[in-house]
Amino acid sequence: MNLSYPLFEMPAVGIYIVIVTFIFGAIFASFITCTAWRVVRHEDWMMGHSHCDTCGHELSTADLFPVISYIALKGKCRYCGSKVPPRDLIFEIILGCVFAGTLALHGAIDAVVLATLALEVLLLGLSLADWDSGVIPDGFLAAILVVWIMTVGFMPDMQSYAVEGVIAAACAGLIMAVVTVIIGKIKKTKMNYGPVKLAMCLMLFLHIRGACAAAVIAVVLGIVFALVCKSKKRQISLAPAISIACIAALLLKDIPVPVIG
Ligand SMILES: [Zn+2]
Repeated sequence: MNLSYPLFEMPAVGIYIVIVTFIFGAIFASFITCTAWRVVRHEDWMMGHSHCDTCGHELSTADLFPVISYIALKGKCRYCGSKVPPRDLIFEIILGCVFAGTLALHGAIDAVVLATLALEVLLLGLSLADWDSGVIPDGFLAAILVVWIMTVGFMPDMQSYAVEGVIAAACAGLIMAVVTVIIGKIKKTKMNYGPVKLAMCLMLFLHIRGACAAAVIAVVLGIVFALVCKSKKRQISLAPAISIACIAALLLKDIPVPVIG
């Protein structure tokens, strides 16, 4: 499957596709923020009903339109009037922009871009879950593995893509596991291996080539997130830093490099 379209040759078509992609991004953000919220609270993430955190009233379909419902209700619950934090709205707008940016940079609808979009949704979900609970749920990691297995099936060089990914994941897992064990021994504390598992899953997509950019961005952002967590006296969450680094590294591959000469 490769539905290439001349994004920059036909601006009207390009703008239309980018707007539609933004809307899809906002819808998926609404779904995944709700899923992460339910997973952290051990609620039924599939069949459960969304409700107001303050009054507990079940939300109707009209209350659940991404971005639009929040603006129409002026950030308040329709039933009790309590203020609703803008967090979900912010992530709906961010994922909408990231979706649109991903497609605009890639310039074609193919297996790679669909895998990247799916990855962006799952990384938002697991980052929110990690930020709220300090745990990266294994269900999100399993979903990332499913996306990778499906992506491999659509790759023209299926075998080398799969082998490169597995080697990169094994290398990253080994290095990060050793570092985590050493830190655990020095601090004499039980370490969380969630970030190691997450890095291994993401290396399947990044390969060794994408690892350098991702590692540099992840270390810088990891320090920033660790300082923020320390200043707020909360547990350190590394999933957001690793997730942003992975997406940035995947998008960097699509930025055209000017050829001199
Ligand atoms: Zn309410």
